[in-house]
Amino acid sequence: MTTELPNELPSELPSELPGPTISADGAPYWRAAAEDRLEIQQCRDCGAYRFPPSHLCRECGCDNTGWTAVSGEGVIYSFSIVHRAPTPAFRALVPYVVALIDLAEGPRMMANVTGAGALDCAIGDAVNVWFEARGGDGAVREVIELILRARGEWDAVLQRYR
Ligand SMILES: [Zn+2]
Repeated sequence: MTTELPNELPSELPSELPGPTISADGAPYWRAAAEDRLEIQQCRDCGAYRFPPSHLCRECGCDNTGWTAVSGEGVIYSFSIVHRAPTPAFRALVPYVVALIDLAEGPRMMANVTGAGALDCAIGDAVNVWFEARGGDGAVREVIELILRARGEWDAVLQRYR
C-alpha cells in the first residue's frame, strides 16, 4: 500500500511541543537560539568548531572555549521521515523530517527540515537555519529550513568556510 505524502509541512509547528532539556554545557547554545542566532563552540587555541557542546576541544584537548555565531548554512548528510509520532504532542506534525546536517563550518547537528518540499529532501540538499519557539515557557530550539540550491552554489558556500 502506498501512502500519499503531502507536499508541504505545516507552516507553524504546534507550540505545545516539548521544549529542550538544557544542560550546563549547552546553555549558551539555547540562549543564542532564543535570540535567533546559531552559536556553537569554537576552540580559542586551535580554532576548531565543535558540536554538540563539550568541555574539552576534540582536536587539541584544551578547555579554552568560546561560543561563535556561525552561518546557519549546511547540507543534509542523512535524514529520516517520521511517520509515527514519538509522543502524543507530535501527532499533528507527522510526517516530518529529522536530518543530520553538516554545517558549513564543519560540525554535524540534528535538526528538523521544514518548508515547502521538505518531504522531498535528499542527501546533499543545502539548508539554512531558522528558529521556532517551542515549549509552553517560550523555550526555543533550532529548526533547519530546506532551501534547495544548485550544487555549484553550495560548493561556493563551502569555499568560504574551508
Ligand atoms: Zn582546540
